[in-house]
Amino acid sequence: MDLHNPKDLVDHAATLDCIHCGLCLRSCPTYQLTGVESSSPRGRVHLMRAVAEGRIEAGQDFEDEMDFCLLCRHCESVCPAGVQFGPMMEVTRDGLERRRGSSLRRLARRAAFAWLLPSRWALGAAAVLARFGQMSGLDRMVRALLGERGRFIDGAPAVPPARDRRRLPAVTPRHAAATDRGSVWMLEGCVMPILLGGTNRATVQALTALGHEVRVSQAMVCCGSLHAHNGERGLARKLARKAIEAFEAEPSLPIVVNSAGCGAHLRELAHLFEAKDPWRSRAADVAARVRDFSEVAAPILAGVARADGSGEAPITAAWDAPCHLCHGQAVRQPPLDVLDSLPGVDTRPLADSESCCGSAGLYSLLRPDDSSAVLEPKLESLRRSGAQVLVTANPGCQLQWSQGIARAGLDVRVAHLAELVAERYTPAVSPES
Ligand code: SF4
Ligand code: SF4
Repeated sequence: MDLHNPKDLVDHAATLDCIHCGLCLRSCPTYQLTGVESSSPRGRVHLMRAVAEGRIEAGQDFEDEMDFCLLCRHCESVCPAGVQFGPMMEVTRDGLERRRGSSLRRLARRAAFAWLLPSRWALGAAAVLARFGQMSGLDRMVRALLGERGRFIDGAPAVPPARDRRRLPAVTPRHAAATDRGSVWMLEGCVMPILLGGTNRATVQALTALGHEVRVSQAMVCCGSLHAHNGERGLARKLARKAIEAFEAEPSLPIVVNSAGCGAHLRELAHLFEAKDPWRSRAADVAARVRDFSEVAAPILAGVARADGSGEAPITAAWDAPCHLCHGQAVRQPPLDVLDSLPGVDTRPLADSESCCGSAGLYSLLRPDDSSAVLEPKLESLRRSGAQVLVTANPGCQLQWSQGIARAGLDVRVAHLAELVAERYTPAVSPES
């Protein structure tokens, strides 16, 4: 790839799919913030095409608009021409990152993406350091020393104690009272065990209660989703190969994912490889086995009487669809079906539940003001819904909502869908067992 050739910075052919209808504008959170065409999907496609055709330079203004995009892919869901905005933006960000050379920022990114995220050891050490900093107040000192450049520390989520950061077992048998529904892989993830280990354990509990033996690969760490979304396609490809090899160890098992961003990435894994690359078909085979947790749970729970189960207190709940679940994977109905089938859960509609919450992977750390501004109207929708629990299915969204709700002073719990299933569904012991 020649990065001085603008055509290699942009997927020019993909930009030609846009028919300039403008139907995507109102769905775009950055356009809603600015009202400026260049901050809209149509505007960004137009900019990419102009760069590819040599009509404008890919300068600072161009980079700013590409960075401003949340990659929420809401525009894809409403586009009548089938413009594949997500893959297009991944190619452009990858090209921009590689042009940035060896600046300090670039080196810091390489350390995070190449060294930290793919290593359990490095992630564990970083968690110990971050926890120590947060408990001792050292993080505030570092924040003060770094000034504006340390703003990401303000949005860094609290690291839980070591007992909550333990790994999942390699194999967890199904619940003794559950009907045997076979084995599944579960993606443990890189950041999930560190920040949201409780969600992972609840997912295992729910899956085993639903009748699955749960297997967790000890060989793989990160699926590369954050890499692909943030302009590191080379590293994403490397991690994809590891994931493929790990899941090929049991090639007939479905792969259950409780993180919408990772699920969307794994389903599109083949896009990382050229047509002639033998890894492409292996990636496609793995992608075909990926299931969101809700897709596994919904059909099983549909056969269970709603009154069965937990004795937990009744709750009102609002579902907020993660972008990479509804727009990235077109999974919309299963999470609602799961909520409807759980005893004691009264589901309240949430206005604009398919619009982005502003989390967007690392976006909330890198652009905290824009991220908060995107969440603001959704907090108001949540307040109006009267729900006691905000339910979602993506780690970034869980953290973003938790921080926003705390800032707004709302008395609302944030829960992953799998946590509600784990709490409210227990398989009944059948008379013959
Ligand atoms: S991905 Fe989201 S933020 Fe980016 S252009 Fe599309 S709708 Fe707008
Ligand atoms: S909806 Fe699709 S075709 Fe229409 S302007 Fe937006 S990206 Fe282009």
